[in-house]
Amino acid sequence: MKIRNRYAPSPTGLQHIGGIRTALFNYLFAKSQGGAFILRMEDTDRARSDPAFVQNLFDTFQWLGFHWDEGPDIGGLYEPYTQSQRTAFYQKAAQELLDKDKAYYCFCSAERLENLRKEREATHSGETGYDRLCRNIPKDLAKSRVKSGEPYVVRLKIPLGQSTRFHDHLLGDIEWKNEDVNPDPVLLKSDGFPTYHLANVVDDHLMDITHVLRAQEWLPSTPLHAIIYESFGWNMPQFCHLPMVMGSDGKKLSKRHGATSIDEFRRQGYLPEALLNYTALLGASYEEGKDIYTLEEFAASFNIDKLNKAPAVFDYKKLDWFNGLYIRTKTNEELAELALPYCKGLVKENSTLFIGAMALIKERISLLSEIPSKIAYLFEEPPLSEPSEFFPKKADLAKTVELLELGKPLASASYPKNDEEAEAFFKEEAEKVAAVAGVKIGDVMMPLRVAITGARVSPPLLGSLRLLGQEKALARVEKSLSLLKAASCR
Ligand code: GLU
Repeated sequence: MKIRNRYAPSPTGLQHIGGIRTALFNYLFAKSQGGAFILRMEDTDRARSDPAFVQNLFDTFQWLGFHWDEGPDIGGLYEPYTQSQRTAFYQKAAQELLDKDKAYYCFCSAERLENLRKEREATHSGETGYDRLCRNIPKDLAKSRVKSGEPYVVRLKIPLGQSTRFHDHLLGDIEWKNEDVNPDPVLLKSDGFPTYHLANVVDDHLMDITHVLRAQEWLPSTPLHAIIYESFGWNMPQFCHLPMVMGSDGKKLSKRHGATSIDEFRRQGYLPEALLNYTALLGASYEEGKDIYTLEEFAASFNIDKLNKAPAVFDYKKLDWFNGLYIRTKTNEELAELALPYCKGLVKENSTLFIGAMALIKERISLLSEIPSKIAYLFEEPPLSEPSEFFPKKADLAKTVELLELGKPLASASYPKNDEEAEAFFKEEAEKVAAVAGVKIGDVMMPLRVAITGARVSPPLLGSLRLLGQEKALARVEKSLSLLKAASCR
């Protein structure tokens, strides 16, 4: 049997971590079995579906870098893959259930249903859903009412007095009393459009879907889906409801915890590889002791039997760690390319200086969005710091002026091209200054660092000096010296 599975989002919102995780697990499972992964657009909710969200989905997956084998954009043997273009299939299916007496016409007005709800609320009856009033209308009468143009919906005739059983790959056998299932839900709405339940089941059947891996929040719908399959006399796909993704407080991951939409992660400067790597680990186990995988490696070791039952906790810090790791695998040129959109206020285009700056910060960041503030001093003169900012520990203003004067040649030196030689030269010179001034080498660096970078904590000083060049570096030192000297005259 060839495995066929699908990601079936409703385009009613931005793509978020939970959805991506579902899509990714389906993809990895299909790839691990030589199967096909399908994208199906479930846009039955006409009011909430929006083409902008369809576009967001395409953009998101383009960015993430994994794709379906069949879908609305690329077609396939089971076209069309967008439910709003498949109405005829659902109408035919609803007719089939009507003919089999597994569904019935319902003529109840929205007003009647609203009154029913209010009445129940007032009497605290605890009952919800449809009261099955039209279930007893004789078939012929119902048909003639339809013929005469009376508005109707088609409802599923849930078999009463029995239970429905299905097997979930992860959760095992599940049994629901039919009385506890949504009472005779609508399959076809009065405008001829299907509800989610009908469209979902009909499409999984018509598209030969063998496995449904979906979020656990759909589990309460599954007994109903099982009844629909049974009513048609169709085999059910294998179900596997995936554990929820939670925040660190054990509540469903939401905006309160941090970014959830992929757009937001992207804006914050996460790399797609890092996001995919981390997401694929949410609730699944692969090889012992291995954290970093390519998509191909994930696919090779994905095992549906190694999914966790317990909810997965989304750890933003761990994701940051992954992101930092992936950032460090980039060459300076690649990183510059990725960083450019985040540095628009600072640089207009890629340059040797910009690429050089990447080498200085690569080891020190976990998000691309951290880059502009870290490298700004290389492109714009940093604002002059307060005199006390320049002071090494235990040094006063006079000593700081002396150290910066002595350190000036470090700024104006012409450094060897070779990194190691430059490093050795820099260290040697700094040690000389430290010996003359009777301080530690770090005390020589501090005022110089603040003069050059504008901050006490910065990317490596030598790298910064070399990138800035003698002229600019010296000018900054001179400027700082003037400030400090002016302060000592006060
Ligand atoms: N359209 C549903 C959703 O938005 C799909 C549920 C399923 O995968 O069956 O998630």
